[in-house]
Amino acid sequence: MQIETIDYRFHYQGRDITVPGVAVWVCDHCGEQVFPYESARKIETYKKYSGRLHLCVPPELHAELARRAQKHHQSVNQEAYQILELALKAMPVKTKPVTSVTAS
Ligand SMILES: [Zn+2]
Repeated sequence: MQIETIDYRFHYQGRDITVPGVAVWVCDHCGEQVFPYESARKIETYKKYSGRLHLCVPPELHAELARRAQKHHQSVNQEAYQILELALKAMPVKTKPVTSVTAS
């Protein structure tokens, strides 16, 4: 088995999906692909979420976003994407701690 990084393409519920940078184990003999857990999780995320998001915001917020986008010489989409990404990183949601399996 060798680990490779591929762009994984598949068809799902009427959509052609490409998942970039997927780590996969490939068998040297038969070419069978086995996805590590993190890769399988990434593929499931791409199945569930398209990445296209329609947002409803007050016109004032839309206008502010447009002003910032113009100032930064980029699209409103790029501006919103960067702000959202920064905001989500700055405000992480507490997740459940990883529970270890203990023998009883
Ligand atoms: Zn094989």
